[in-house]
Amino acid sequence: MTGANPHAACLQAPLSTLKGVGPRLSEKLLRLGLRTVEDLLYFLPFRYEDRRSLAQISQLTPGESYLFKGEIISADEVTSGHGRKKIFEVIVGDQSGQVLLKWFHYRRDWMKRRYQNGRQLLIYGEVKFFSGRREILHPEIEFCTAEELPTEQLRILPVYPLTEGLSQKQLRALCQQAAGDYASCVETQLPEELRRRHQLLPLSQALLHLHCPTIDCDFYALQQGRDQNRRTLVYDEFFYFQLGLALRRQGVQLEQGRAFNVAHTYTRPLAKLLPFNLTAAQKRVLGEIKNDMMAQHPMNRLLQGDVGSGKTIVALMACLIAIENGAQAVVVAPTEILAEQHYCQFQHWITELGLSVALLTGSMAKKQRRKILEQLATGELHLLVGTHAVFQPDVIFHDLGLAIIDEQHRFGVKQRHELRKKGPNPDTLVMTATPIPRTLSLTLYGDLAVSVIDELPPGRPPIKTRIANKNQRQALINFVRRELDKGHQVYFVYPLVEESENSELKAATEALETLSAELGDYRLGLLHGRLHSRDKEAVMQQFKAKELDILVATTVIEVGIDVPNASVMVIEHAERFGLAQLHQLRGRVGRGSTQSYCILVRSAQCSHDGIKRLSVMERSNDGFAIAEADLEQRGPGEFLGTRQAGLADFRIADIIRDTRLLELARHDAFELAREPDFMHDPRFANVRETLKQRWGTRLELASVG
Ligand code: ADP
Ligand code: MG
Repeated sequence: MTGANPHAACLQAPLSTLKGVGPRLSEKLLRLGLRTVEDLLYFLPFRYEDRRSLAQISQLTPGESYLFKGEIISADEVTSGHGRKKIFEVIVGDQSGQVLLKWFHYRRDWMKRRYQNGRQLLIYGEVKFFSGRREILHPEIEFCTAEELPTEQLRILPVYPLTEGLSQKQLRALCQQAAGDYASCVETQLPEELRRRHQLLPLSQALLHLHCPTIDCDFYALQQGRDQNRRTLVYDEFFYFQLGLALRRQGVQLEQGRAFNVAHTYTRPLAKLLPFNLTAAQKRVLGEIKNDMMAQHPMNRLLQGDVGSGKTIVALMACLIAIENGAQAVVVAPTEILAEQHYCQFQHWITELGLSVALLTGSMAKKQRRKILEQLATGELHLLVGTHAVFQPDVIFHDLGLAIIDEQHRFGVKQRHELRKKGPNPDTLVMTATPIPRTLSLTLYGDLAVSVIDELPPGRPPIKTRIANKNQRQALINFVRRELDKGHQVYFVYPLVEESENSELKAATEALETLSAELGDYRLGLLHGRLHSRDKEAVMQQFKAKELDILVATTVIEVGIDVPNASVMVIEHAERFGLAQLHQLRGRVGRGSTQSYCILVRSAQCSHDGIKRLSVMERSNDGFAIAEADLEQRGPGEFLGTRQAGLADFRIADIIRDTRLLELARHDAFELAREPDFMHDPRFANVRETLKQRWGTRLELASVG
């Protein structure tokens, strides 16, 4: 167990230690993810109710919640004006006025017995305005006397997220019990200097206050999460997370890697072969990568660049640096189509340079696969491009010097490590075209150095984006025809209604039928997830070779496809996509010098919010701005999808709301990790111990001993 904190054991005690918690309640609490006393302590209210003073009934304003007293003037079941619906109504009054209380769900006899004229009620609820009257639906009620209210009734009440079968009262009482009995066991383990610098409170005090706020506190700060108690907890959580990242990053830096030389044997000839000059941003980023590759420790870098910013060629250049030094390189992509496309691009240049490259995917014939693995093991093969198939244990390199992962967010963090094990501490470069807002990249990729290509190749007019509705169908089709008649190509993308393979097939085929009726005089191709990869590739190749004018697709074309002659992207039911995804899709056009268009077709049932969301796309072509908006609207879980969401999952902190604290804690943690004797100095023993506990379950952290 833990040497540092003798109280840690009671924090780890199961919730059944608390009074009133038996097996049935334990089970319900488990549904909220609550197992130990500590879990409950850190299970904070999501809002508070201000019940510090009693209102007069005349003061009640619709839209606000109040605590007030009133005497029952009348109480009865009534039938609503429109029909058979029964409602139980109680009118209460004080010297200042009257207000109506309403119940839709109740037991009649019980209510009649309970609510008798003349009884005094203590009421809490939100006031609404309906049919010219103020009313409160399903208020909280306690009976009281006409005397003055006992002071303990006047307070700030925490409100917790619930699960079925668990009442607010029950959970509140439990949290209060836990806070009262156990908060004092939580010890703060932060360097004194940081505590003072940020005026942080003891964790025990912060937890106690957030569960049992005192009535003299700043209610609005508390409600908005700006309160110093919450800030203390958030900082603490971020600090330890960032400290872990900092040490992990150092762990890589402390390892011996190989220092490459930049010999220019292949990089310079490639630069001469390319039909364009690298942009300033590409050059800068390549310089950063080169520096890393020439250094003693292994590279661990993230390359971000908007769709179409030209990451592929930068990746190839990096591969050539490894190859110039006699090492091999591997590029992994999340889908076969993307891997194939990289392969085709690479193959052209690589063979031109007299080098060899192969493609490895899951759907490959055994014999062919064996041959590739052989060439890989002997070192005959310089560059391997592939899908997940590359991770398999029998894929063995002669001497892997550089591993590149494209569209990193499609892979787990583990896979990054797996790939790294395939060589003697190879350099790693992960790439993403899904711009990751800075806040997220600080947590997801906090242990990586970051390079950004923030410039598109010249001569590309910005894509024009418009939202269209169903009524504009004919205009849309006419517009598409005009573009097709100019010799351009067009994408039509359909979302999946449900995530099932059958429905994908149905949606895709129906879409093809509809479009054949409208644009049947052009050549249409269909691309969807149910196609065999051979057929997918065939369709893609046809589209690339201009043997097809229109590509009808479900989202399989999301990432990476490069057909510069395509000038229109039509996205049907656009409101069903996330903004970041729409931006990705839009990035399939605008890849050449012609003016390109993106039409977002919204359904009739698209909500007002939906339209507002889509209009972000009309206004902005900046992937980072869009990603920020998307993150804000959908939250990190949705934004990232389930696979990586766990990494951005904090107990208390909210990376969107608490960005400033995140930056602060990151700065402090990285500074502390840089102290030469951080790992040994007894001053930091408790910090190291706490770090180990916090990271234990989260990610492997070998370097902390
Ligand atoms: P992404 O960053 O989305 O992966 P790509 O690497 O696929 O972008 O590049 C998009 C297109 O731009 C490709 O057709 C590529 O050949 C081209 N390209 C890349 N760099 C430049 C450049 N500096 N100037 C002109 N075109 C470029
Ligand atoms: Mg790409």
